[in-house]
Amino acid sequence: MKDTKKDIRTLSKDQIREFFVGVGDKAFRGNQVYEWLWVKGCHKFEDMTNLSKETRTLLETHFVINHIAVDYMQKSNDGTIKNAVKLHDGLVVESVLIPVKDRTTACVSSQVGCSLDCSFCATSRLKRMRNLNPDEIYDQVVAIHRESELYFNRPLSNIVFMGMGEPLMNYKNVLASIEKITDKEGLGMSPKRITVSTSGVPKMIKKMADDGVKFNLAVSLHSAIQETRESIMPFAKSFTLVDLKEALEYWYEKTSKKITYEYVVWEGINDKQEDIDALVQFCKAVPCKVNIIEYNPIGDPKFKQADSKALDAYIEGLEKHRIPVTVRRSRGKDIDAACGQLANKQQ
Ligand code: SAH
Repeated sequence: MKDTKKDIRTLSKDQIREFFVGVGDKAFRGNQVYEWLWVKGCHKFEDMTNLSKETRTLLETHFVINHIAVDYMQKSNDGTIKNAVKLHDGLVVESVLIPVKDRTTACVSSQVGCSLDCSFCATSRLKRMRNLNPDEIYDQVVAIHRESELYFNRPLSNIVFMGMGEPLMNYKNVLASIEKITDKEGLGMSPKRITVSTSGVPKMIKKMADDGVKFNLAVSLHSAIQETRESIMPFAKSFTLVDLKEALEYWYEKTSKKITYEYVVWEGINDKQEDIDALVQFCKAVPCKVNIIEYNPIGDPKFKQADSKALDAYIEGLEKHRIPVTVRRSRGKDIDAACGQLANKQQ
């Protein structure tokens, strides 16, 4: 028979307190359970040792604790670790630990598969199966935090929502997970250390601005020419550059937060001077920086990383207009853990 008990991790602290009051116990009991669930990362009622045996049994009869399990872990030559994470219903997502000098960054997934269809990204070849729940996103972060302590002897320092999925197509749950990550009764991390990366969903960028979020925003731009962008990111036909730009202006007006544009340069696709000129023009809309990322091949001959001459032209073009630009090398390529390579290959 299918388990119809409710997942206690979908309840707020107040709801757990109300449950205890409802069964004639003290509301305070809810605080204890909440701490076990979120601060201590406990996955079994029987391990909640400061509760009586009766209370633990009571919880057991009413609730389950759904949680993720790291099913498979791969380590790259460069120290990057990729986790294949099994969800309670058997579906799998991937998350990545990226060690950089004295920092550790977690790259987490927000959906099983992806709602969008970027033709250069391996995740887009998977069907979007479902959105992740807040606790499933939170658990990925906790798992990487623990791995960072274990293997690198330091806590997790940064989080990027650049794993599988489009975070803004699962906005509510992403936001709820960030609330837990930043909450003192969670991981207590600063939102300044969190970056949400989107392919560019204008309506949702505006919504985030209205919600007054404190984390950073990255936009996967890849081309500032509408026709070119549509050819590699087909959803951009509906989410046009004009609307994107307008949404980003709104974002900056409301949050005063600079935007990062992620950008891959491909041979024959966006490696011409007109591509650079269009990007420079786009960058003038709001304070920003450009992060040129290395292309990680996914087996489509249409896409080939442009040569260093083309990259130098981009850097020169942007710097001439005082637009900050960095070039980021891929990490974890040998284990398919780099940007756009997450595709549950081990399954
Ligand atoms: N959907 C979100 C987050 C996931 S993708 C977004 O689009 O931003 C994370 C980053 O990896 C994005 O900038 C994306 O454009 C980039 N990416 C996707 N496939 C890639 C590939 N094969 N090589 C390099 N970067 C890639």
